Amino acid sequence: CGIVGYIGKRDVAPLLLEGLQRLEYRGYDSAGIAIHAKGTGKATGGLKTAKAKGRVRELESRLPKRFAGSTGIAHTRWATHGAPTDENAHPHQDTEGKVAVVHNGIIDNAADVRAKLTADGIVFASETDTEVLAHLIARSPAEKLEEKVREALRHIEGTYGIAVLHADFPDRIVVARNGSPVVLGIGEHEMFVSSDVAALVSHTRQVVTLDDGEMATLKADDYRTYTTEGSRTTSAPETVEYAA
Ligand code: GLU
Repeated sequence: CGIVGYIGKRDVAPLLLEGLQRLEYRGYDSAGIAIHAKGTGKATGGLKTAKAKGRVRELESRLPKRFAGSTGIAHTRWATHGAPTDENAHPHQDTEGKVAVVHNGIIDNAADVRAKLTADGIVFASETDTEVLAHLIARSPAEKLEEKVREALRHIEGTYGIAVLHADFPDRIVVARNGSPVVLGIGEHEMFVSSDVAALVSHTRQVVTLDDGEMATLKADDYRTYTTEGSRTTSAPETVEYAA
């Protein structure tokens, strides 16, 4: 239903919760968040997540005490596959917890992909269509995160707006769109992403709207857009006028 993401220097959890609140008007049944946790020294702290059935307030009350970081993604879910439960709330992860995915839309062939992955020994943690994406990305032998996501998407039929974190790639968020909106918000040494411009405009008016079949990589100081086949696309930001 709703996606927000941030990469920059600020403490990410409050920013993402605020973003989710701006999307509450769309309706949802559960919410969740994943961050690249701050590590000690140069080491990163890996991914940390929190999820809750119910309101964003409920999610907020469940955040672990140490939940500091400056890169993250969050989601409000409107269930299509699997009941509204804590387990089915996004982000979804692979078994090792290296990948976190939030997804809007419906994966039509999820049952087939899930059956294949299960036959390969993967144990699913949720009933959602979305979880297959986390496993597919984690299993991809490709080197770059962009390629892992691209390869995972090749196995998928359906609609998606997605945002992806990977523990081994703490400097970026990778997003993709097919039939479900994804808008980038371009800031100063920080980047935002959302499914809805309403979650961006308190931070920046410079936005890039992805087309279907487009992906993007967000880093704190730069972003690039390309097709799901990997060719670069042009993406000059537009200035949005928005009556708050
Ligand atoms: N199909 C996904 C699910 O049921 C995403 C639903 C949504 O767009 O919120 O979890």
